[in-house]
Amino acid sequence: MSATRQPQVTVLAGPTAVGKGTVSTYIRDNYPDVWLSVSATTREPRPGEQDGVHYYFTDRDEFQRLADTGQMLEWAVVHGRNCYGTIRSKVEEAAEAGKHVLLEIDLQGARQVKASMPEAKFVFLAPPTWEELVRRLTGRGTETPEEQQRRLETAKLELAAESEFDVTIVNDDVERAADELVGLMGLVPHQR
Ligand code: 5GP
Repeated sequence: MSATRQPQVTVLAGPTAVGKGTVSTYIRDNYPDVWLSVSATTREPRPGEQDGVHYYFTDRDEFQRLADTGQMLEWAVVHGRNCYGTIRSKVEEAAEAGKHVLLEIDLQGARQVKASMPEAKFVFLAPPTWEELVRRLTGRGTETPEEQQRRLETAKLELAAESEFDVTIVNDDVERAADELVGLMGLVPHQR
């Protein structure tokens, strides 16, 4: 790859509850030219989630096998519970085919990609304010107070990692943030 060529792999990470999933879902639904990586996970599918579309749902043994045989570009235990990982061959094939590859992963995973693929572009999705992040985290209402507290502690550490990234996008509005991201990826954002 020449030094001037646009990197084909973009990594989107950021603190818990900042809205990475919402931004990447918006991109999947509105920007077919973006190749959004489908991760493997050991967590159970949520209602409406399809295997191979939202995740590759695997059991722990299969996940472990993929990790042990070097088939994961990165992987991590997220929120101390389930394993999530990016399947290396799929990302490499898409990048080699010239696709605009987007990985939406957690911070631990982003650090691993940086170690093995430093030419990728690393984008940090930030909340407009800390108060807004707290509101999004607690407003979801799906976690116990203890779990929320644990996630807030994690979020503080995650926010401190912003300087490790090439660029920050503030998630003040999902469509706007998504458009900014696809613009950074070298695509033309939609007119509004
Ligand atoms: P959820 O279970 O809500 O779909 O995702 C939980 C977290 O897992 C999110 O923060 C998401 O960024 C992260 N995640 C999803 N896929 C991957 C992956 O392949 N690798 C890593 N490291 N994190 C992931």
